Amino acid sequence: MIRWNLHAHTVVSDGELTAGELVRRASEEGLDGLAITDHFPYPCYPITWSEVDWASSQKALAKQEDELSGRYSGLAVLAGVEVEFIDELDLPAKWLHGLNLDFVLGGVHLLDRWALDWSEEEFLRGRGIFGSLERAFERYFEAVVKLAESGLVDSIAHLDVVKKYNADEKHFSEKSEWYRELVMNCLRGIAKTDVAMEVSTAGLRRPVGAIYPSQWILREARDRGIRVTVGTDYHKKGEKVTAGLDSADEALRAAGYESYLIFEKRRPISVRLG
Ligand SMILES: [Zn+2]
Ligand SMILES: [Zn+2]
Repeated sequence: MIRWNLHAHTVVSDGELTAGELVRRASEEGLDGLAITDHFPYPCYPITWSEVDWASSQKALAKQEDELSGRYSGLAVLAGVEVEFIDELDLPAKWLHGLNLDFVLGGVHLLDRWALDWSEEEFLRGRGIFGSLERAFERYFEAVVKLAESGLVDSIAHLDVVKKYNADEKHFSEKSEWYRELVMNCLRGIAKTDVAMEVSTAGLRRPVGAIYPSQWILREARDRGIRVTVGTDYHKKGEKVTAGLDSADEALRAAGYESYLIFEKRRPISVRLG
């Protein structure tokens, strides 16, 4: 079983537990390690980025980092963030500077004013904003590659989060040529960098009911030598901190992976699947 969770939120962003409570739970559930990765900056769904209070996000993280360094009864705690994609990537770079982090996840949630994983209604608004889902996804996967190329992040979060509301392929087919092409281009882009890709169990608890990314994407990533981190995107009190990690283990083995990565002070360390 996978014993590291590299994606969890606390009350510093949109999670329900404090870091202390979360760490205690993770320890009780028998994890070896947990990365706390609150959104940076927060709030993550502003009307415009100019409304973001970068300084208070940075301050909250610095405070949390102080509280979290060290181990808790056998549990390693990593100080991390989930950094947002914005067109001016020098902004997060500037504010991340000076934070002594172990791990930086990169996630694309907002393009122009499209909050793509906010609600199904909001997701479908992408068609109107960009002309079609295909155009909207083009922008999304381009942003993912830019984030990977930026040198800011260690791993890309929930790569195919655009399928969140696509249960039974009600909005698009993953087999359609345009979608496969967008995903493959994105994987090629990531493979040229040292950046890892997250296997996220969050999708299991979302309408789509499946791990991010889909199995075929994981296999293609494996063929391209892309390494992976594993996380649950923990938010809510009712969730287990280990939710879905057994399924992630199965998905990784089925795709041919023998290990996954954890990060300490931004350096990757390989952990073998047991
Ligand atoms: Zn995210
Ligand atoms: Zn997250």
